[in-house]
Amino acid sequence: MRAKELFSPTLREVPAEAEVVSHQLLLRAGFIRRTAAGVYTYLPLAIRVLKKIEQIVREEMDHQGGQEIMMPIIQPAELWQESGRWDVYGPELFRLKDRHDRDFALGPTHEEVITTLVRGEVNSYKQMPLLLYQIQNKYRDERRPRFGLLRGREFIMKDLYSFDRDAAGLEVSYRKMHEAYTSIFKRCGLLFRPVEADSGAIGGSDTHEFMVLADSGEAIVLYCNNQACGYAANNEKATLPAEENISGETLKPLIRAATPGCRTVEEVAQFLRISPQTIIKTILYETEKEVVAALVRGDREINEIKLLNTLGCLRLELAGAKTVQQITGAAVGFAGPVGLKGCTIVADPEVLAMVNAVTGSNTDDTHCLNVNPTRDFEVNITKDIRMVQAGEPCPHCGSQLLEAKGIEVGQIFKLGDKYSKALGATYLDESGHSLPIIMGCYGIGVSRTMAAAIEQNHDNNGIIWPAAIAPFQVVVIPVSTKDEKQVALARELYQRLLEAGIETVIDDRPERAGVKFKDADLIGYPLRITIGSKAVSENRVELQPRRTGEVTLAPTQNLEKIVLEMLTAL
Ligand code: ATP
Ligand code: MG
Repeated sequence: MRAKELFSPTLREVPAEAEVVSHQLLLRAGFIRRTAAGVYTYLPLAIRVLKKIEQIVREEMDHQGGQEIMMPIIQPAELWQESGRWDVYGPELFRLKDRHDRDFALGPTHEEVITTLVRGEVNSYKQMPLLLYQIQNKYRDERRPRFGLLRGREFIMKDLYSFDRDAAGLEVSYRKMHEAYTSIFKRCGLLFRPVEADSGAIGGSDTHEFMVLADSGEAIVLYCNNQACGYAANNEKATLPAEENISGETLKPLIRAATPGCRTVEEVAQFLRISPQTIIKTILYETEKEVVAALVRGDREINEIKLLNTLGCLRLELAGAKTVQQITGAAVGFAGPVGLKGCTIVADPEVLAMVNAVTGSNTDDTHCLNVNPTRDFEVNITKDIRMVQAGEPCPHCGSQLLEAKGIEVGQIFKLGDKYSKALGATYLDESGHSLPIIMGCYGIGVSRTMAAAIEQNHDNNGIIWPAAIAPFQVVVIPVSTKDEKQVALARELYQRLLEAGIETVIDDRPERAGVKFKDADLIGYPLRITIGSKAVSENRVELQPRRTGEVTLAPTQNLEKIVLEMLTAL
């Protein structure tokens, strides 16, 4: 491809709307343009990258026995009503009506459509396992479609669904996908980690997220320092070893102390000159069913996802000042479990191990001292409800947990019979018994993976594509387009590289060399070949990998071979 003809309009300025690096660079380097909030047009360079990621995904899906299909984007509301998700999916679902006033949705995911398909076509155990997938646009009316392709309202996803006769079959399918995802992100040249995750609203039990590690990631990953252990989890999910009460301290009598105006853990700790670790933090929540007091140690944060799962509720919100006053009889900041009525008390196990702790007293400007769980208050539910932090012990081996930030590029779920039961997808086993099909679902954000690759691989000058997913592998730049010999040599080498199957761009635009170098860095070609006067006189060209910037000289004779070798190492 000649740079002159390539439709990749670059921008000198960073567009104001772009907050994250991948968004800025995709716009600046001419990969995408915004059509509406969270909706983008992919230009030729982006299409090349997306096709490469898709091809890797396709090969790995096929390798595990996946068969590609294509389901409709437009989905009839009846399917969603049957599964019960029409009402619970909420405003994220793009809804529309046809000319007959019938309801439809733009597919955010395809469990309903595929389960209905399989319900009609699969009726015997002999037809399973079955792995079906597609790669297409998905639609989610995200609350905050910021961050460019990382969170679009229209985005490209690969979604595979597995159908098995039982849990053992699902386990096999799940492992296959885990393996496929590992190969995919490895082949894409990305640094990533599979982590245990929360199954959230989609339901099901086991689930892993595949996280591309990048400082700009929204998710926090906790992983074990001990490589042989390998434990890694999203911090929404991470757990801890069971607590033991090993304190030998004697229980002191409970007393009350004035703490005027001290509402937060920090204020109370400072005022009483104690450590936050000795305070029990009491936070009131409201669910659709009840009011809940959640207790964690003062230096900990409540993990609302764990709390939501513990309570089995759909909605969980911080209680308002009015509710707090009603339940505790005090203003916000003075709630405590002693004598607390009219709400369910959920405590983290760590709280139960505390001795002579400090809590709110349910009276304004007062706290209780020497509070002892069980002696002074009862707990309704004891469950891990707190955020795990780096530095704490690994639940598997006890080594230290470390922390990293990640971008979720894929997730795999064991769905079990959630959808097959709701939609009546059953099969007959050997003895003629009708049983629900056991399902799994497995997604990869293809467009998000492109953006995540940039978040992980860039510098101040632009993108640094891993060679496997770069839009082109090589750019050939004649330093002076006025020098006919340089241009002729550049064209010859360009031609030879193309014939060797290397995706190459020749930048023979009549621009200054500096401009071309800048654009090459911005677009992120893995390898730059510069053709200056030496190249002509000595038959030697400069090779410069984008990532290292280290220049080496290479003879022009067998350049193809040298370039291929360099590219496989990039
Ligand atoms: P998130 O928590 O980031 O909103 P999700 O858990 O809802 O994502 P899944 O339903 O697991 O997403 O979808 C599978 C994959 O699709 C995700 O791992 C992600 O890579 C991609 N994806 C999901 N939502 C978006 C989006 N709005 N824009 C781009 N990619 C997305
Ligand atoms: Mg997910």
